[in-house]
Amino acid sequence: MRRIFLALITSTFILGCSSVATDSKQNMEQENLTLATIWYQNSPEVKALYYQGFNIAQERVQEFQKQKSDRPKAVVVDLDETMIDNSPFQGKMIETGKPFTPEMWDEWVTLEKAEAMPGAVEFTQFCKMQGIEVIYLSNRTVGQQQATMSNMHKLGFAFVKPENFYLKDTTSKKEPRRRRISENFDIILLLGDNLNDFAQVFEDRYEDWGKANVDGQRQQFGRKFIVFPNPMYGEWEKNIYSYERVKDEETRFSMRRETLKSF
Ligand SMILES: [Mg+2]
Repeated sequence: MRRIFLALITSTFILGCSSVATDSKQNMEQENLTLATIWYQNSPEVKALYYQGFNIAQERVQEFQKQKSDRPKAVVVDLDETMIDNSPFQGKMIETGKPFTPEMWDEWVTLEKAEAMPGAVEFTQFCKMQGIEVIYLSNRTVGQQQATMSNMHKLGFAFVKPENFYLKDTTSKKEPRRRRISENFDIILLLGDNLNDFAQVFEDRYEDWGKANVDGQRQQFGRKFIVFPNPMYGEWEKNIYSYERVKDEETRFSMRRETLKSF
C-alpha cells in the first residue's frame, strides 16, 4: 500500500514538473513584456506621470484660451494608453504566451473593460467647462467605435459622441485625419503615448530611432505635445527588429540583446 502511495506521489510529481516545464516554455514567448506591464499597472510613478501630463495640459488650455482664433479650439487626444488603460490585454498576452492578433484585440475591446488613465476623465470635463472640444483620434478601428464609445461613456468621459471620434478606416497614419480635424478646428494641443500621435514628422524613425526629430521639435513638448509613458509597446519597438516581422522568439531575444548598451 505504502509502495503504491509512493509511486502515485512520484508520478504526480513528475507529471507536475513536465506540465510546469511546458507551461513555462510556452509562456516565455511574451515574457519580455512582464516587467514593463507590472510597472505600468502598479507603480505610483505611472499614476504621477499621468497626473503630471494632464495638469500641464490643463494649464496649456488656460493659456491658449487667451489667444484669439478664427475657428473653435480643440484638443486632440489619442485613446489607448493615453486616455484609457489596456494593460490587461498585455497581461493576457503574457499569461497565454500568445502574440498580438487583431482577433484577440477585438475580443478585449468588445469587453468594454478598459479603465480610465488617472486624470483623463477630469481633463475632458475641464475642457468642456472651458468650451474647448476634445477630439478622439485613435487607431482603434471604425468597427470598434460602438464598443469604445460605450466603454468611455461608462467611465464618464465628456464628448463621447460619434462626430468626435476619428478612428482607423483605411490607414493607420494619423496625418490625414488631423488635416480633416483642422478644417473645422484650431488644434491647440495634442496628447499621446506615441510620437506619431503628434505630427507626421515623427512617423519615419530612421536609424537613430527618430531622436533627431525629437531634438528638432523639443520646444513643443509640454507646450503643444503632451507625452505619456508606454514601455509595453509602440512604434519605438520596431527599431529593435529592424522593421521586420521577426516571429521566432529566439531571434527576437538576440535582437533585443544586440540593441542593449552596456560597458
Ligand atoms: Mg496610444
